[in-house]
This record gives sequence, C-alpha cells and structure tokens, in this order.
Amino acid sequence: MPLDRRTLLGTWSAMLAAGALGGSTVATATGGTTRFRRIATEEACTTPDVVEAMRALAQGPSPSLDMGLVRSTYVPNPPTRWLAALLDFESERLKIMDAANVDMHVLSLSSPGVQMFDADLACSLATSANDLMADYVRRRPQRFAMLASFAPHAPERAAKEMQRVVDAHKVGGFIINSHTFNEYLDDPKFWAIFEAAEALQRPIYLHPRQPSEGMAVPFMEYSMSSAMWGFAVETGTHALRLILGGVFDRFPKLQLVLGHMGEGLPYYLTRIDHWYPILFREGRVARLKMRPSDYFRRNFLITTSGMETHDVLQFCLTILGADRIMWAIDYPFEDMAPAVRFMDSAPISDADKARIYSGNAERVFHIAT
Ligand code: MN
Repeated sequence: MPLDRRTLLGTWSAMLAAGALGGSTVATATGGTTRFRRIATEEACTTPDVVEAMRALAQGPSPSLDMGLVRSTYVPNPPTRWLAALLDFESERLKIMDAANVDMHVLSLSSPGVQMFDADLACSLATSANDLMADYVRRRPQRFAMLASFAPHAPERAAKEMQRVVDAHKVGGFIINSHTFNEYLDDPKFWAIFEAAEALQRPIYLHPRQPSEGMAVPFMEYSMSSAMWGFAVETGTHALRLILGGVFDRFPKLQLVLGHMGEGLPYYLTRIDHWYPILFREGRVARLKMRPSDYFRRNFLITTSGMETHDVLQFCLTILGADRIMWAIDYPFEDMAPAVRFMDSAPISDADKARIYSGNAERVFHIAT
C-alpha cells in the first residue's frame, strides 16, 4: 500500500511525540512506529564498601571458584574496566543507556555479592549497599530501580532486611547469587527468606555464581566455571532443587526469576517431567502436588540476559508465554546496544515485545508505569 502524505505526517508526528517523551521508536511490520519503554532487569553495580571487603577477601585463601573473579575484578589498581563500570551509576552508565535508548536499569549488587563474607559482615554490607543504591533510585526514579541484597546465611536477619528495604525504600525485588558457602536454599533452614518474599509479594532473582565446591572439579579447566557454562549449570541445578525440594508447595505464591533464558531449564522440562514420576515411584524423590514443569510455569519468570538468540526466545515463549519473560542486558558484562537490537528485531508481536521490554517488569518488580 503506497504511503500517502497523511500517513507520512502521522508517522512523523508519532516519532516526534515519542522523541519528546525521551523514548525511542521501532519500525513495525505495518510501517508505523511503536515506542517501547525498555527496562533492563539484570544490571550489575557495586559499592565502595563491597570493593574494599572484596579486596581484603582476595588477600586470604579460599577454595571458592569465585575467587578467580574476585581477584581479577576487584584487586587490580587502576581498576579494571568492569570495576569502573560497576562503581559508576550516573556517568558512563547513563550516557550509554541514552545512546542505546535504554530507559531503566534494575540495579543489583554484582555476583557473588555479599555471599562470600561471614554472616555479620554480609548483613552489614548488604544494608549499606541497599541504602546507597536506594539513594540513586530516589534521585532518578525514571532511570533506576533495584533488587536488594541480604545475607542468605542469616535467614532471620535476611527476612528483617527484606521487610526494611520494602518499608524504607519501596524496593520491588531481591537478589540471591545461587549457593552460599556451598549450601542451597531447598534446605528448610533458609525458608524464612521465602516466607518473607511471598508475604511481601516481591520476587527473588536467583542469579548465577560459579559452581559450588562439590561440583567444582570438572569446571576448573577451560574456564568452564564462568558465564560460558558453569553459571547456568550451577543456577539451573539450584532452581531444580527448589522445585524438587517442595519449596513451591510450601510457598505457592513465591516468584523466582532466572536470567539467561532460564539457565537451560526450559529446554529440559519435558525430560524432568518424564523422569520425576519414575523416580518418585522408586522412593527417590518426595511427593509434589504438581509436575515439576507446572511449578516452573507458575513460580518462575526468566530474563533474556546474555542470550540474544531469536530461536531461543521463541522457544521460551512457547514454553512460558509472554507474561513470564523479561528483557535484561547483564551490563557491564554484556553490551547494551546489541541487547536492544536483539529485542527490537525479535520476530514477535509488538504486544509481546512490550510485555518483555517493560510490562512484566513493571508488574513483577512494582515499577511505576
Ligand atoms: Mn548477571
């Protein structure tokens, strides 16, 4: 259909209006333009207090696979490119966001966060980091939201901090970097955390870190413990432990978020469903009220962080639907512009794109529309 002058003018005025709102436009299949609010949901930062504690930690011995990352990221002086980016909130970060048309970063303390420190230090670092990040959110509520940290290895104090940050800072969600001193959250001693998250109606982002010591050895060569593979195996394993451990029968409204298109679990759900009843009949796993995949669809959302492949996105859409996928960049470890290009060019409807770019994040993380 040829474009007449009126259509052209309409298109231009829509683009100008979108520009005036500070947003950006994407051409649609029908020749119009659509403005998307782009909320990136797994965006890392750190604080001077955490950096100082990481540097002290790096001086001592530790069997943790994360020590390689701690030493390479936090120790070098002058700071590495990544450390500079993690410490920056309002300078380069905002410039790159503007250039890439990213409206908002949902900030979280970079992995492994406070989970390498003893419980007392972890609690105090989490509180100071939450307060500092909340200051940036308060200053720029259109550009920043945040996920709060706490010390999972002090579950009762963690639950108090969760309540505090919701009351004091209106925080919309939490983050845990997988295992803590090699322990997993399916152990009921941690369940005060899930009880608090469910009661506060705030999700927990289960973010990767390197595999726990019990599964470390095969990951130690070829840098396999990293984001290339080990993160997904570690975090996917953790999420499946939560399902098989009955966490979501006990806390049916609890919502968890997994990055990296679900850390491999969407691909495996049918096989897990096939084997669960066989293993249950053999008395090797506990009774669940539903199939494992039912919990995945009811209690998990996934994000696109660092998985910029349209085939995988479409597969996850068929498994989970557009209401349970959120957009994420994983800045500064992944670049902003390719993440925007990936989603702008995704061969999905504008309605689904709008949910993934912002609608789901607004709903799940209580972000003002
Ligand atoms: Mn990340």
